[in-house]
Amino acid sequence: MNKYDSEIIAGLLTSEGYRITEKEEEATVYLINTCSVREHAEKRALGRIGTLSHWKRHNPQRKLGVIGCMAQRMGETLFIQKPFLDFILGPDEYSKLPDLIANGHQEHCTEISLHGIESYSTIEPKRRSGIDGFVAVSRGCNNYCSYCIVPYTRGRERSRPIHDILDEIEKMIDENYVEVTLLGQNVNTYNDGQHDFADLLQQVNNIAGIHRIRFMTSHPKDLTDKILQTVASSEKVCPHLHLPLQSGSDPILSKMNRGYTRKEYTNLVDRARRVIPDVSITSDIMVGFPGETETDFQETVRLMKDVLFDDAFTYRYSPREGTKAFQMNDDVSEQKKRHRLDQIIKLQRQISFKKRQNLIGRCIEVLPEKTSKQSPDEWMGKTPGDHVVIFPKKHIRLGQPVKVLIESCRGSTLRGKILNCKTGNN
Ligand code: SAH
Ligand code: SF4
Repeated sequence: MNKYDSEIIAGLLTSEGYRITEKEEEATVYLINTCSVREHAEKRALGRIGTLSHWKRHNPQRKLGVIGCMAQRMGETLFIQKPFLDFILGPDEYSKLPDLIANGHQEHCTEISLHGIESYSTIEPKRRSGIDGFVAVSRGCNNYCSYCIVPYTRGRERSRPIHDILDEIEKMIDENYVEVTLLGQNVNTYNDGQHDFADLLQQVNNIAGIHRIRFMTSHPKDLTDKILQTVASSEKVCPHLHLPLQSGSDPILSKMNRGYTRKEYTNLVDRARRVIPDVSITSDIMVGFPGETETDFQETVRLMKDVLFDDAFTYRYSPREGTKAFQMNDDVSEQKKRHRLDQIIKLQRQISFKKRQNLIGRCIEVLPEKTSKQSPDEWMGKTPGDHVVIFPKKHIRLGQPVKVLIESCRGSTLRGKILNCKTGNN
């Protein structure tokens, strides 16, 4: 979502005549888009801001701004820590940026109201060039998972009108994009008053010119059978669900306020696998939540071994001030958190490797996304299930879907060759 927001800001500022530069010394305005989900992300951002004090002092006319969730969360205290900053802007206030930058020397300006209506629907994002791009379908979140800062920094959930989303995707086609990822903290609850998420998927599926549709994130409690069936029946919607589990232990899930049990989660995975052939399922898993015992942790391990995710992002719990979990006793030692994290990283690596190995010998559609880092003569592309594949370019163009015979698997990468094969699809 932050990457998409940066594209919105780039679109907003370029329409005002600004130009993006990668060269620090050339820039007159420097914006740092920040994340607050974990303390580590904030520490890194603060470190980066610190290194920019020289950039600002070199020419005080320059403007240095911190935007995004950390700006929202910390507000004025950021000026105390980093007095050389010019402005602080939360995720609902980006429309004010051009004025803020143009209005000269407004010292220490903070714009962090959360009015819960901003959707930036009229701003055309400036995407990185490529074949795949993001489109936000909703902003904010109403779930209040007890560990999570997002509802406090991004406000209540609101859905964009379906026509704005469809228009934005139509424009992407004019710029040669062939894959779109629909974004929201919880896309499954998308509802613009007349259309739900399944309707949205169907309508995007009807747009000629788009070849693949992805979406994230799916909250397990809101992934309905209607959505599963729509994914299965819409040929452009990729058979891939990012379905954050967080924990395999019922008491922990309850303390996290996730709204599902272990059994409900595994039942959902079973249903998804029945309804969507060859569906790939990825997840987010957290260890060390307050009160997580060894037994709770082993429940997570057991579930990972049962479900066999294609891949997973794994995290150590990070207390976030203002959340409900912050009041709980953060009683799992840092050492234990690290040890548990190491165990699930290792386990997931083995599972992911086995899953990828199972694809060897199959003929799968791959969409070439960019030249492989390893060789200028090879494409890097992805399967509908989001597995990375490297293959010789031959006559295939960027963004041209092609059937590839998967021949080998090294680390997280599959290798294959272009083939006119008839068997298999995903
Ligand atoms: N809306 C999405 C993404 C939320 S943030 C969802 O509901 O899944 C992405 C991931 O960061 C979460 O799934 C969670 O695993 C992790 N996360 C969020 N808050 C965290 C915290 N306080 N400590 C550690 N990990 C956290
Ligand atoms: Fe955070 Fe939960 Fe909302 Fe995801 S669903 S953004 S984890 S509160």
